[in-house]
Order: sequence, then C-alpha cells, then structure tokens
Amino acid sequence: MDSKVLNIMLDTAKKITLKNDCVNDSGFRVGSALLCKNGNIYAGHNIENFGIQSTCSERTAFCSAISEGEKEFVGIVVIASDIKENKFVEAWPCGYCREFMSSIVGSEFEIYTIDENGNLVGKTISELAPLHDYSINKNNSFDKNTKISIKGNFFEVPISKNIEEKEINKVIDLALKVANNTYGYFQKEGAVIVGFNEKNEKCIFTGSTITDNNGSIIRAPKVALLKALSNGVRKFEKIICIKSENGKANILYPSYDVIQLLLQYAGVDFKMITYNQDENKVYENTIKEVLPKYFEF
Ligand SMILES: [Zn+2]
Repeated sequence: MDSKVLNIMLDTAKKITLKNDCVNDSGFRVGSALLCKNGNIYAGHNIENFGIQSTCSERTAFCSAISEGEKEFVGIVVIASDIKENKFVEAWPCGYCREFMSSIVGSEFEIYTIDENGNLVGKTISELAPLHDYSINKNNSFDKNTKISIKGNFFEVPISKNIEEKEINKVIDLALKVANNTYGYFQKEGAVIVGFNEKNEKCIFTGSTITDNNGSIIRAPKVALLKALSNGVRKFEKIICIKSENGKANILYPSYDVIQLLLQYAGVDFKMITYNQDENKVYENTIKEVLPKYFEF
C-alpha cells in the first residue's frame, strides 16, 4: 500500500489508542485504522468488559464502517500501547478477528502493525488466516490519488448524527434506515444510542447488525455502543432499537449479553426503548428493570 496513506493510518491508530480508557484487564490499549476503497478511514479501539465479551479494536473499526454502509475494504493498521511500559508495541489480530475479517475481505486485504523499531510491517489476511476460502470475497485495491477522509469524532469528519432526539419518530426512522445496512444473513436490525461526549455535547450513534460467515453475530445495539465508546462517549442516556420487518419497525431489545455490557458503560438507569409501528406504541425499560436480582447481592 502507498506509504503516505499507511502513515496517515498509523497516526490515526496511535491517536485512537491513546484515547482508549475502556481497558480493565489486559493492560494493553489497542487501536485500529481501517481503510475503505473510497478513501474513508474508520478508527476503533478495544473495549473490555471485566473479562467477558471484550471486543478487539479491529472489530470495533469494522462495526463503525459497516454500520455506516461501507462494503469495500483495503487494509488495516493495528497498534497496541503497553500501559505499564508506556510505549507502542506490535499487535497482530487474534483468531477471532482473523475469522471475522476473512469472511468480509478479499485474500489481498493488508494488515499492518509495527516492529520493535517502530517500523510498519505488513501481511495479507490470506497469510495470517491461510485456512480460509477467499474465493467468494472480492479484493479491493486502493488508488493512491483517492482523497483520504478520516471518520470519527476524534478526527476530521464526525460520525455522530445531528438529530433532535426528543423527536422519537425521527430517531425511529433513523434506526429503520440503519437496519438496511445489516450485513450478513441475520434479520435486519438497527439501533441508535444517545450519549454525551467528553465536551458534554449530546451525540447520537447508529448501529446495524453484522454477521460473519462463521455465524458470529454482532447485533445492532452492541455495534452502536462500541461505536459510541470508540468515539469518546462516556455518559449514556438511552438506546432505541428496532428490527425492520417488511419495511416497518418492530420490537427489539438488546440481548442480555449486551445489557450486561451496557450496564458497565451506561449504568442501571440507562433506558432501552423500542417501538411497534403497527400498534404505534413505544416501550421503555431501564436496565434495573430488566436485570432483576443482579443488583441485590
Ligand atoms: Zn481480536
């Protein structure tokens, strides 16, 4: 890949890595910068959850990109920051991420990290996950004259939506639209999460469900949460989730594994809202209400 573009990706990955305060277990902040064929770069960092259900930076970056409608990927730079040693170190994708990426990208998709001297080193996905059959996936090359645009609230182009969230119908419309970005064979699902960034500005992030060929599913509410966290949201208000059936919104709650994750990052009073369009009825619950007994020991 073009070295100028790679250096922009490396800088982006370093920046998102240093912004990461969602690490409780591993002692490593990890950041990724994912390049799409159209020149858009999406960043993500690892999000840990006290040992359960941690999500690596690569999957966070892919969640952001896919839920924004991206489908053509060229390469990714992954870098870790060793919190104890206070320095950047190499970080190759884990097996989960290799499986996830190999079902989405072509065999020539490039993966870079740094060596012990801080220099970029790269491999293709087919070198890192040689058992996979890539014949159904398309390779996407990058034209170095394509304009680069770094997406994300820490970067050039914010991806939080500017919408008056008190107008619930507009939020539901947005969730319904986002449900169409559902990737893979699972039902069409969309989520919109409302929170506040580090400047205490209200932010709205969308998520759509993503399935890889191995059957691993990252559902829309989790995608929205991962995206919001890796864009600096640390205070959360509510999430609106729907599934789209024949173009109409129907009831969807986050699954309990995601409710557990929401509990850690959004707290017990966080509201989960869903909507049945046929009945024109909005349903609302707090985490406290739907996870009884958990708070009583
Ligand atoms: Zn991983």
